[in-house]
Amino acid sequence: MSRFDLSGRWAIVTGANTGIGQAIAVGLANAGADIVGVGRSATTQTEADVCSLGRRFVTVSADLSRTGSAARVIAGALEAGATPDILVNNAGIIRRGDSLDFTEEDWDAVLDTNLKSVFFLCQAFARAALAAERRAKIINIASMLSFQGGIRVPSYTAAKSGLAGITRLLANEWAGSGINVNAIAPGYVETNNTMALRADAERNADILKRIPAGRWARPEDMAGAAVFLASPASDYVHGAILPVDGGWLAR
Ligand code: NAD
Repeated sequence: MSRFDLSGRWAIVTGANTGIGQAIAVGLANAGADIVGVGRSATTQTEADVCSLGRRFVTVSADLSRTGSAARVIAGALEAGATPDILVNNAGIIRRGDSLDFTEEDWDAVLDTNLKSVFFLCQAFARAALAAERRAKIINIASMLSFQGGIRVPSYTAAKSGLAGITRLLANEWAGSGINVNAIAPGYVETNNTMALRADAERNADILKRIPAGRWARPEDMAGAAVFLASPASDYVHGAILPVDGGWLAR
């Protein structure tokens, strides 16, 4: 059997209705996984794509910015029949603004969704995996701003840099218990999240000039790394932040 095969495994994917989360959910289903799509919005298209591959799809509705939502999401997934095998922490938001004017509301909104909820989802998922005595895989979706400073996105940079830190911390704590915690750091991907950047001709040209691959990533470009980190092929990979960036960080 292929070391990349995910048959018989369930993957819980947050923010699965669009963009990177949708592409990862479909990519994991293509490798054999059944999917729990978690989010605030309907996951109709993702569900149709996953089911057309012959895999099961379950929806768990949640606003991950809310205190207490993480434990409810994992409990909801298990109640729906999923096993705690793979967790992809993909849901995230961005707020742009000069640091001189940045508001506490924009700070809290991004930190709550992109960092706090990820930690507590990891905690609830790991507790379930340990209780069920299953090998498990956690994949956090980091960013170039897990490595770099960025500009005009202070809460996003704080959250994604923090996410790299907790990926390593949790890997240290859980590697010996059969749970792999790793991250994918996408480069610049064509999604809703980057619409404002792509609409700004000057910023768009600056970004493209620096990408050795010569193009923005498409959400599907993230799926291969996700299948690898979700599968037995990555059993000895712990605490890694894998850039999928068209070479951006190599420059
Ligand atoms: P997107 O806006 O298309 O998707 C974000 C997803 O998160 C959506 O499904 C949305 O419904 C969900 N979400 C947001 N807030 C939520 C909440 N409170 N509760 C539940 N779900 C919530 O953007 P995307 O680019 O696909 O982003 C996915 C992830 O990839 C994010 O973590 C983002 O930071 C990261 N990322 C994106 C890029 C890029 O260039 N697009 C680069 C690096 C990292």
